[in-house]
Amino acid sequence: MAGVRLRGVHKLYGKVHAVRGVDIEIPDRAFTVLVGPSGCGKSTLLRMIAGLEVVTEGTVEIDGAVVNDVRPKDRDVAMVFQNYALYPHMSVFENVAFGLRMRNAPNSEIRPRVERAATMLGIADLLERQPRQLSGGQRQRVAMGRALVRDAKLYLFDEPLSNLDAQLRDEMRTEIKRLHQDMQRTMIYVTHDQVEAMTLADRIVLLRDGQIEQEGPPLELYERP
Ligand code: ADP
Ligand code: ADP
Repeated sequence: MAGVRLRGVHKLYGKVHAVRGVDIEIPDRAFTVLVGPSGCGKSTLLRMIAGLEVVTEGTVEIDGAVVNDVRPKDRDVAMVFQNYALYPHMSVFENVAFGLRMRNAPNSEIRPRVERAATMLGIADLLERQPRQLSGGQRQRVAMGRALVRDAKLYLFDEPLSNLDAQLRDEMRTEIKRLHQDMQRTMIYVTHDQVEAMTLADRIVLLRDGQIEQEGPPLELYERP
């Protein structure tokens, strides 16, 4: 349904060569984690897949079609951001519903989908609140709900748990894993945390200085000398 392929991808921010010739094939429905130290280009890669960043050179393909010139909202991709990116003046319901409203979905469709996503994430009781009335963990769930409600074929996560404390992070990891099993969608997850990568990934891509250092299933990768 939604394999992703990058061929010869480069990204320059002015003179900063953030991504230097990346070729990856990301299998359909797998949980792929891009891991590596801060500044190695993980987020830039993810944003190019989402269409939020222009590709300087090379091609990004989703489902076998080159999407370099396709706008983010036409890519059928849902993304969860590190800083949650919630709208402070909107209720939780409206925050979760936002992507559906943007696509002019009818109210009769919006309400059940928001409620279903909220139930999956344990925030069904919070729908009338404002983001400022929520804890960090609850905000993070709202940000996830906003992506899940879209029913996209490709889900992208940019360090979504890094603002949470250790216990909540464990809980959310388990939950994300369960969502992946239930939804059977392609998920690409960025983190600098190797434990998180090991726990979540079917397949890990290790980046360093804008290039792929290693890739493979988690055990294979970290058992090498
Ligand atoms: P990571 O997600 O692995 O921490 P990033 O993709 O955010 O790495 O950044 C890769 C490199 O590109 C870094 O050197 C970073 O400073 C630089 N960079 C990222 N975004 C921008 C930007 N908007 N303008 C200029 N440089 C950027
Ligand atoms: P546009 O100009 O396409 O309306 P914006 O520049 O406001 O979009 O935002 C960039 C893109 O990011 C938009 O297509 C928007 O739908 C998308 N976007 C915002 N939040 C999310 C999210 N949580 N998941 C997926 N896409 C998102």
